[in-house]
Amino acid sequence: MPEKFFLQTQKQFKKIAKFLNLESEIIQQLKEPQRILKFQIPVRMDNGKIKVFFGFRSQHNNSLGPYKGGIRYHPNVSEDGIKALSMLMTWKCSLVGLPFGGGKGGVIINPLELSKNELERLSRGYVNKVFPLIGPDIDIPAPDVNTNAQIMAWMDDEYSKLKGKDLPAAFTGKPLEMWGIKGREEATGYGGVIILEKLSKIFDLKPEKTTLVIQGFGNVGYYFARFAFKKGFKIIAISEAEGGIYVSKGLNPEKTLKCKEVKGKIAGCYCAGSVCDTSFGEKITNKELLQMPVDVLVPAAVENVITKENAPKIKAKYIIEMANGPVTPEALSILNKRKVLSVPDILANAGGVVVSYFEWLQSKEKKKWKKRKVLEELSAILGKAFDKVRDLSQREKISLRKAAYFIAINKVAKAIK
Ligand code: GLU
Repeated sequence: MPEKFFLQTQKQFKKIAKFLNLESEIIQQLKEPQRILKFQIPVRMDNGKIKVFFGFRSQHNNSLGPYKGGIRYHPNVSEDGIKALSMLMTWKCSLVGLPFGGGKGGVIINPLELSKNELERLSRGYVNKVFPLIGPDIDIPAPDVNTNAQIMAWMDDEYSKLKGKDLPAAFTGKPLEMWGIKGREEATGYGGVIILEKLSKIFDLKPEKTTLVIQGFGNVGYYFARFAFKKGFKIIAISEAEGGIYVSKGLNPEKTLKCKEVKGKIAGCYCAGSVCDTSFGEKITNKELLQMPVDVLVPAAVENVITKENAPKIKAKYIIEMANGPVTPEALSILNKRKVLSVPDILANAGGVVVSYFEWLQSKEKKKWKKRKVLEELSAILGKAFDKVRDLSQREKISLRKAAYFIAINKVAKAIK
């Protein structure tokens, strides 16, 4: 997470604040998180020795409701990056109309280097450190990069133990047996495909004639690929941190995942139709993937991958920002000039937190939601948010990102007032 990320996010906010004519008292409150926790997490490793990890929780703003946002485990986690991501969560929750503010947490760690028991002790250790400042009506964490339902289960269990009562609404993204909700795992990717379908309607994109490339094959990238494939879109390349694959006739995401599980990586998993065959495809780098001649580019991995350096070379006509902050502001102005339409992250990837909201309600009310209801309500919320953003962008002749930020920040500012 480059230090620039927070400055960039802050600059973006200030630009919109100026546009909205916000009072300086409001700008002062929103330009920094309300609170940021930094702490050590000493963990007893399997060899008996203690290792100290560093964790963060940034609580950006709670004017619209309790702080909400994931916890990521990644070697590049930094205080600056977590602050930026917590600000993005405030805008995201506001834009889609959730009764939440924005928060984000992280630990500097490559989780692959820990055993399952060490990971459990780290996750419980994290909760011990943030315990006094989180809770179902204070700050509700969820999964993010490299964290999942199992980690949320340990965390919620630890929190409930410390409180002396079962509190499933303290975390979302939990397993179904712990008041997790059906559809949460695939929600972010599914939400992105709702946006893809909106674009298809407006610009008359026929799925079978529309090519897609996806950067990232984690939870978000995989489910995006899977649902897009089911709708008939042609996914010609995907990648992960180590590099990507290109299958000109269109690849099968489910088969690719199965192959990856066996091989440990996607390189060589050239799966089209129902078979995987090396003659179908070839290796490509992440850099090449971003610049491929394609209709839709989906950055679904990490921030700052489309920059002023590569923006002039992007050949896609549409970008769906599934990662948080994948397109820098400088890159966006270049893309705007080149008439490449980019759907902002706070809209495109909001599906996860929307379904987290349903899970939070379900955990409080102890009344299970059916999967069909989850997906229907998610479509309705994202569809409405998309229409609002697009209407404003058309009316004011501004980018989708500017329109989305305009709506989101305006609402938070009003709540503060
Ligand atoms: N980590 C996801 C995000 O960035 C989900 C957050 C949540 O469900 O609270 O939106």
